[in-house]
Amino acid sequence: MRIDSVDLFYLRMPQVLDIGDGSQDMLLVRAEADGNVGWGECEASPLTSIASFVAPLSHSACHPVAASVLGQRLDHADDIARISAEVRAASLDLLQTDHTLSGIEIALWDLLGRVREQPVWQLLGHRRSFPKTPYASSLFGDDPQETLEKAAAVRRAGYRAAKFGWGPYGTTSVQGDADQVHAAREGLGEDGVLLVDAGTVFGEDVDAAALRLPALEQADVGWLEEPFTSGALRSYRSLAARSATVRLAAGEGAHNPSLAEHLIDHGGIGFVQIDTGRIGGIGPAARVARHARAAGVAFVNHTFTSHLALSAALQPYAGAQADRLCEYPVEAKPLARDATTTRIEVDADGTVAAPDAPGLGLEPDLEALRGYLVDVEITVGGNTLYRTPELRP
Ligand SMILES: [Mg+2]
Repeated sequence: MRIDSVDLFYLRMPQVLDIGDGSQDMLLVRAEADGNVGWGECEASPLTSIASFVAPLSHSACHPVAASVLGQRLDHADDIARISAEVRAASLDLLQTDHTLSGIEIALWDLLGRVREQPVWQLLGHRRSFPKTPYASSLFGDDPQETLEKAAAVRRAGYRAAKFGWGPYGTTSVQGDADQVHAAREGLGEDGVLLVDAGTVFGEDVDAAALRLPALEQADVGWLEEPFTSGALRSYRSLAARSATVRLAAGEGAHNPSLAEHLIDHGGIGFVQIDTGRIGGIGPAARVARHARAAGVAFVNHTFTSHLALSAALQPYAGAQADRLCEYPVEAKPLARDATTTRIEVDADGTVAAPDAPGLGLEPDLEALRGYLVDVEITVGGNTLYRTPELRP
């Protein structure tokens, strides 16, 4: 097959709020090769990614991403890795490249899986798709009472694991954060798995993060996620050494596999969290999953958006029986919920799994998505470089 077209669609909620919720907009990717179609989703900042796809040559390491994708041969999984390497080389200095590439790479896997009539996890060499325990991923409430109510609702909905993050955590006081964590534990109940996401709020400040450890230990928190910015390896290692029971989790910021592997090798983390929509797609995520396993670090997906993204995130570690947790978006905006005709539902036994159907195993709901589609036109020097394409099957 030859890649004939890659279409990007900017979709958006009517109102985008200044909150830590990445499901408020979406960049959907449609790839077509010899009449076959695959779909993917990029993780963040749709318009910036569209710009990186079409921006005219700036210098030899700043080619538009499109130049390394369109017209390429696509017959085997190896072709996806080759195309990705060419994109990274030709657009090396274009910093949004990794986001843009990720959604395209995912769409190519979906396309190849549909053509071969195999789920992507099979193309990756996994023998089966093991069930995962979904943890409900939520933002902290504005105050402890709201957090308690959110946690109780998650428990009533049947989840055995929950994560609370962002919101006011780390921005008020040590006691304020402790109250939030204890409220989450109270709402979730004693037997639930409780995880906390600090959303990089402590920068590189190990002492500030360490002051939060006693409350996290008292509340039996399973991991403290992203206390620091993504590359602050010394801070991660130092805090890990000071923590008795709470393991550190990080990795969602990794936009190439090397960055995630550095966190595993040098950051002292216990869980590596990979967003396939940012790290370069499914292939690089699968590489990190293998590295984590060899290093004794658990692999977890990072997903806060649609089930198309969730399926892409599950594929890289579908066959890893020991990696049991799965981030499961429960607060996603209607755009993310409406994005696919079916979703990866929680089974009666309380687990989820990567679908057994070809490709990513989900269909975008084009009729629903048209209601969120934003018209975009990018014109440079009188030439139209991009105009929102028709959203077609
Ligand atoms: Mg996070």
